Amino acid sequence: MGSKGLHNAPISVHISFIVVYKSLLLFGAPGSGKGTQGKILGTIPGFYHCACGDVFRAVDVRSEFGKGFLHYSSKGQLVPDDISIGLWSAQIEGMVQAGRFKPDIDFLVLDGIPRNCNQAKMLGSTVDVLRVFHLTCSDKTKIYDRLKRRALRDNRLDDINEEVIKRRLKTYEEETKPVLDFYGPDLITHVNADQLPYQVLRDILNHIEHYQEPPAE
Ligand code: ADP
Repeated sequence: MGSKGLHNAPISVHISFIVVYKSLLLFGAPGSGKGTQGKILGTIPGFYHCACGDVFRAVDVRSEFGKGFLHYSSKGQLVPDDISIGLWSAQIEGMVQAGRFKPDIDFLVLDGIPRNCNQAKMLGSTVDVLRVFHLTCSDKTKIYDRLKRRALRDNRLDDINEEVIKRRLKTYEEETKPVLDFYGPDLITHVNADQLPYQVLRDILNHIEHYQEPPAE
């Protein structure tokens, strides 16, 4: 193209807005209370909670994904990463479109995702993890009791037998726990999850107040 052509060429300016989700990650073993805390935080204006497991369980079990989900979860295994990230991202984008999650003013409360380092990488810079709340449970029997109670209450196949629970805890130790190293110690707040739910919540909220002004109304 000659210089004349260049001068005559229409100038198009593409302005793209990169959406960043300011996120707080609830992290811990199955039964550590991530869902309980996430649900409460999600009722507070300025916080949007989305549990990855709930997104998966909401899919029709007759669909391909639904069948796949049951296949993996009933064995205590993780759903493959590309499917997990794809489905979860679609759900979050849908909530943004619907105006239920407003990334410019809300914190996204992550629960159950990322579940391994590859997922953390795949979430990339869209998900800006400001803080990781690591819910620690020193008492293994407490975890078993909570999961068994939940199995009865929520009809959860993956919590129903002891073998699957053991496998889920092993998956957590081997695949999920390394995510803590991925984010590094500066981002992590350890919270004693052996406490009562309101005490765990108090510790989380106290910390949020320390490092971040609440978002404007
Ligand atoms: P819990 O609260 O006990 O940790 P979840 O409800 O988060 O359990 O998850 C239930 C199951 O759903 C998991 O065992 C796994 O099979 C699947 N799952 C949930 N989140 C993810 C994820 N991010 N990646 C892969 N599999 C997932």
